[in-house]
Amino acid sequence: MKPFYATGIFLLLLTSVCSAQNVPQDASEDALVKITRSGSQPPEIGIPDYYTGIVRKEALFDAEDPSRVAGGVVTYEPGARTAWHVHPLGQVLIISSGTGLVQQWGQPVQEVSEGDIIWIPAGVKHWHGATDGSRMRHVVITESLDGKSVEWLEKVEQHDG
Ligand code: MN
Repeated sequence: MKPFYATGIFLLLLTSVCSAQNVPQDASEDALVKITRSGSQPPEIGIPDYYTGIVRKEALFDAEDPSRVAGGVVTYEPGARTAWHVHPLGQVLIISSGTGLVQQWGQPVQEVSEGDIIWIPAGVKHWHGATDGSRMRHVVITESLDGKSVEWLEKVEQHDG
């Protein structure tokens, strides 16, 4: 009985999705699916004003109007980290390899590792980076407000992580 029941539910869902009248079929004749080929975007080194140690940034996708969400990958050599900073609409970090550190202003340093997902709330002062003993890489997804996704503050001189 179970497979038939599941098939019935699936067909019901399929029917309702296909008949939905409010799903835009083609938003604009100018809008085209865009594919950014793997390896087509060279990495850049994080500038010293905003990072300590060696940090490599790779763009994944820019915000495409009207979307305001952009993504990238950041790799920190052992001991490398961002300066303190704030994101006007918040940020998601997905640790893809290694062991890292994240700290919110006024809170203890927290260790994070591969597979951990970090939500940085809007306006929260924080930094992120690698531990002294491990390289760390994270995916980063950030939404911009008026074209701005980060406000850089002072560097992290010392931390207890
Ligand atoms: Mn951040």
